[in-house]
Parts: sequence; C-alpha cells; structure tokens
Amino acid sequence: MMMSGGFKLFSVRGIPIRLHWTFFLVLPYVALGMARQFAAFAASAHTSRDALLLSPGVWGILLAVLLFASVLLHELGHVFVARSQGSPVRGVTLMLLGGVSHIEKVSREPHAEAKMAVVGPIVSVGIALVAYAGHLLLGGIAPDLQFGLFYLAQMNLAIAVFNMLPAFPLDGGRVLRSLLEPRYGRLRATQAAANVGRLLAVAMGIFGVLAGNFLLVLIAVFVWGGGTAEASVALQQEALAGVPVGDVTDTSVGTIGAVASVEQAAATMLATRSPVLIVQARTGDIGLVTAADVARIPEGERGRVPIESLARFDLPIAQASDSAADALDAMGERGLDFAPVVRGTWVIGVLSREAVMRRIQLQGTLHGGLGDRPSAA
Ligand SMILES: [Zn+2]
Repeated sequence: MMMSGGFKLFSVRGIPIRLHWTFFLVLPYVALGMARQFAAFAASAHTSRDALLLSPGVWGILLAVLLFASVLLHELGHVFVARSQGSPVRGVTLMLLGGVSHIEKVSREPHAEAKMAVVGPIVSVGIALVAYAGHLLLGGIAPDLQFGLFYLAQMNLAIAVFNMLPAFPLDGGRVLRSLLEPRYGRLRATQAAANVGRLLAVAMGIFGVLAGNFLLVLIAVFVWGGGTAEASVALQQEALAGVPVGDVTDTSVGTIGAVASVEQAAATMLATRSPVLIVQARTGDIGLVTAADVARIPEGERGRVPIESLARFDLPIAQASDSAADALDAMGERGLDFAPVVRGTWVIGVLSREAVMRRIQLQGTLHGGLGDRPSAA
C-alpha cells in the first residue's frame, strides 16, 4: 500500500528504510508509561525498581528504540523473502506496531505470498523467544538487562500477535487471502480479507475510544485505510488483466502548442470538456497540463503566461500496447493521475487514473458482480 509521510533513515543492502511520523508518537507514550508506573513495570519483569540503574526516562527511550529495531527486523524478514521470490523491493516504512514493505509485483502465487507474509511474525516470535530465554538466564544477575530483555520479548510477541490478526493489510490478512484464493479467486478473497480487516478496525476503534487508548484508534485507522486501498488495487489488477493501455486511453483530450497562452489552454479544456491537455513542444517533447495547473495562474495574467511554463514534460510516456495495469502502477509510484499515451511516436491521448477507475466501476455495475466501489485511496 502507499504510505507517504516518512523520511529516510538509512539503507540495508540497498533497501531504503523510512520512518513514518506516527512512530514518534510511541516515544512519549512509552516514556510517560514508564515514568508513571515504573515500579509496576519492574515488578512485571521480575525485578525491582530499586535494582535498576537506568531511570524511567532512559528506559522509555531505550524501549522505543528496541521497538523500532524489532519492527525493522520483522519487515526485513518480509523483504528478504520477497527478494528471494524475485519481487523487487522499493523500501520499508516503519510505523507504530509494524511497517509497510513496499514490494513491487508481489508474487501472484498464493503460497509465495503466504510465505512472505508469515516470515515477519516468525522473525518476531524468534526474537521474543531468544529475549525471553536471556531474561530467564540473567535473572538476578543483571537486573537492567533482565528488564530490557523481558520487554523486548513482550514487544516482539505483541508485534507477532497483532500482525497475525486475519485483517488486511496485516500479515494474517494476507495469509487468510491466500487460503481463500483457490476457492474464491483473488478479487473476492481480497475483498473478504479486507472486510474482515474493516470489521476488526471498527471494533478496535470503538474499543480504543472507550478505553481512551489513542494508539489503538490510530492503528484502527491504519487497518481500515490499508484494507480499502489493497482491495481497490486488487480490483484494478483483476479488471485490467490483459488490457492494453490503448483500450483505456482517453483519445478525446485536446492538444496545444507549447507557446500557446494559459488562457488558450483554459479555453481548449472547456471546449474538449477535459481536465487535461497534451502540450507539444517544438522540440518534439510531449507534456501535459492539468486544470489544477491552470488554476494556479491568476485569471488576469493567463493571457501573458505561455503554457510551456506550466506543463510537465518529465512524465512517464505509455505505449498503447503496454499493459494498462503496469502503466497505472508506474503512475501510482510517482503519484501521477495522468500520463501521455503514444502509438509508436504518435501521441494518441492520455491515460487517466480517474477515467480508468470510472470504467472499472461501470464494468462492475454492468456485470452486476463486483459491487464494492474502488476508492481513490
Ligand atoms: Zn509483517
């Protein structure tokens, strides 16, 4: 799924690791919890507050760092299995109780996906077991280490249990989908797993609000959004399987020379009833300009500004014979809604994300089946 709002920390074997802003919510949460009930935390870890050398504040930060490392190892488990299956990995974004591995073209073979999904929780359980063994061995010898290992085990257990919930887009949801897929097909299996996820998200959200647990509410929102986005991606892939770009290209889009004014572009958009225009530079470059671009120029200045200064010429250009699903994926990766389409060197129109979505929806309605409307998420 797509998740923005993270910044890059470092790379592991060429895979960029990003930290999502929600992760910073964990720090004060853990630190405050520690500060308030340090004695109780120490007692749970079979040690006493007085035996610990480090202060509650330091432990709060340390445990947040350990949580981060635990989530990272969990995600790297997914990533390395995905790579061994031949799926390119674009990066990992670490969030609250889990991360998002950006894996391109997840293997469509159900068992491969289940294997990739299940390895994350296995890593977490492994860490939990090792940490707990260390905790038991160090009992009474090194209270601080005993304390740290106990909560390392707890956190990894929590990560494993949470991620194995049978809710899309969590690992358990992926396993559920792979179990349902042979009987119901990928689309219905995804929808079922996403629906279980939404149901669970609602339950978590309500419980979180009632219990005043802010983190739980945030996780509920994440599960809800992820399930919806994944269902929409599966729907798109299913509907576009084998469809070439040319079949879903909007050919009614107008073309304008790069030296034309923004005012002329606005008039052409109105005439063609299209929110996008193809811009042809004298160099032969093909660009696009959207209604949103035009709107940035005050009406009084539009006659003087050339469209060239607004148009984007760095867009991915789709060949009419390309796979539509792949072209939309490439657009999605760059956050683009439109791409010019060519047949050979001839510009034939524009591939529009929204137009394709409308078409898929219409297809669903006409075939009476798909029901669930793809969201824009
Ligand atoms: Zn996972």
